Amino acid sequence: MSLTLDSQDQTDALGARALERMPYTILILDGDLRLRFANAMARERLEPPAREDDPAPPLDAVLDRSGRMSGDVRLRIMSCCAAVVHGRDRHDALLAVAPGQTIAFHGRALGDDRWMIVLEERRAAIAPGSILDDAHRDSVTDLGNRLHLDQKIAEVALNEDQEQAPAILMFDIDRFRDINDRMGRQGGDALLRAVAGRLKRATRDADHIARLEADRFAVLQSNGERAEHLAARLIDILSRPYLIRGELATIAVSAGIALAAPGQTPAAMVENASLARMEAKQAGGNAWRRYGRNLADRARSRQDLEADLHKALPLDQLSIAYQPRVNARSFAITGFEALARWTHPVRGAVPPGLFIPVAEEIGVIGPIGEWVLRHACQTAAAWPEPLTVSVNVAARQLADGRRLITEVLEALRAAALPPRRLVLEFAEAALTHGPDETRATLTALRDHGVRLALDDFGAGDMSLRQLRTFPFDAVSLDQSLIRTLDSAADSGATVRAVATLGAGLGMTVIAEGVETRHQAMILRGGGCTEMQGFLFSRPVTEMEIPALLARDLSRSFTP
Ligand code: C2E
Ligand code: MG
Ligand code: MG
Repeated sequence: MSLTLDSQDQTDALGARALERMPYTILILDGDLRLRFANAMARERLEPPAREDDPAPPLDAVLDRSGRMSGDVRLRIMSCCAAVVHGRDRHDALLAVAPGQTIAFHGRALGDDRWMIVLEERRAAIAPGSILDDAHRDSVTDLGNRLHLDQKIAEVALNEDQEQAPAILMFDIDRFRDINDRMGRQGGDALLRAVAGRLKRATRDADHIARLEADRFAVLQSNGERAEHLAARLIDILSRPYLIRGELATIAVSAGIALAAPGQTPAAMVENASLARMEAKQAGGNAWRRYGRNLADRARSRQDLEADLHKALPLDQLSIAYQPRVNARSFAITGFEALARWTHPVRGAVPPGLFIPVAEEIGVIGPIGEWVLRHACQTAAAWPEPLTVSVNVAARQLADGRRLITEVLEALRAAALPPRRLVLEFAEAALTHGPDETRATLTALRDHGVRLALDDFGAGDMSLRQLRTFPFDAVSLDQSLIRTLDSAADSGATVRAVATLGAGLGMTVIAEGVETRHQAMILRGGGCTEMQGFLFSRPVTEMEIPALLARDLSRSFTP
């Protein structure tokens, strides 16, 4: 991809060879602002098209394509070049690129419709962060703060004839609070600094980085053209494990992108990026979303949902559905799983897959979880021995171990339900934060006689070996694993392996989401001890349970 002098310039080939190796970006332009020569450094910096493809590419296209410089820097370089070529014989300028970084521009007429441009990158000896004054600096990470970001957005937005709109990328560390709880304030700060360091290394000097609130970071990209690419890359980089004070920590990151629109205030731009970020978070984190009109509508509806969810419990809109579990051999019912239901006055039934994560995020999962627990124990107390009731416990509930234990004991006491008839289900993700405290809480619960189950095994990346380090009595195989039974390729090898290992650890192995006889047959042969799924029954109301118990479930299944 080397660009050599064209024939007109052959006379100067010797000079060109000298230019070639100079430690500056050196360009030779013609009167149409087309690139006729680029030295080695320029080729490295700008990656112009191969000479065979285009012997005289327009400079603006080359700069645009390169993506190495921000939009406003490119624009200023173009206007300096235009100044030399269309008028003045020489032009020198100092372009501020980023705090502590400048580019010196020198343009000279060579005669014969040729101009030479030299770009010299200058970097201040002081680190970029340290030249921010205190009012614009975040003291924990040394990045800019909100004030700094707003100022930079305003500066970039002033540059109206910029071809590429700047973009703002907003990042949020999901469940940062858990990390703070687990590692203490100093650990939390150390993590924030580590995140800041990765952001600095992964972005260009021309991008501005700021920390806005506790766990929220923003990157202002003066050229937003590749914002999505950058967001994906940063999520990847930030979600790799951290070593914080000798402990391994992993975080999930949600990112929102908003492109600047003409006349927009910094606040509006930040707000839009925040909405997009919330959307990404709602999608489960480690994802990015871009702001658009649809998103604005959805975000409004999401805000309404949050407001309504706060009122759901006091307004008595929650209920519980119960889904039976059956013994894999006899198909007799062994118990029921309690599943929360929310009937919204306008939206109707809102699925728990939607509202439970929102409840976790806005902090109302505590009271909701406690309500489900008390109610389910009360209901189960009326069932014949030894039927069990399984209750799902959210990550936030598990994080406050002492409180969870108190609530569980109180619910059992109030319902006069023997502890062995209560099964608490935990999703894998709830266990990944603070393994020691988690283990202590689980062990305490088990010592009280409550049974513990790992929910949705196979959906995440926990191994059975890790599973063994927690005191579980049961493991439920995720629906996604059960679905693999339908593809001829697998025919149950994975499920069988997991079931055998689980059984080897003395655990009850529950297959979830069993929908077909085919699946049930394989699972039964593969060592599952219990099954749950639409094949046997959908979740039903409390009132329907007696009829279900009276029915011989095996008849509905036997071929
Ligand atoms: P989960 O604990 O894994 O519950 C099983 C889910 O699978 C239930 O969805 C159930 O209706 C569904 N299911 C059962 N059999 C089948 C089947 O044959 N096919 C299919 N496609 N689905 C089946 P549901 O009720 O929508 O609950 C979704 C998730 O919401 C639950 O997954 C659980 O993680 C969470 N959840 C529900 N209630 C609560 C609660 O009170 N507290 C907490 N923290 N989470 C809850
Ligand atoms: Mg469950
Ligand atoms: Mg499950």
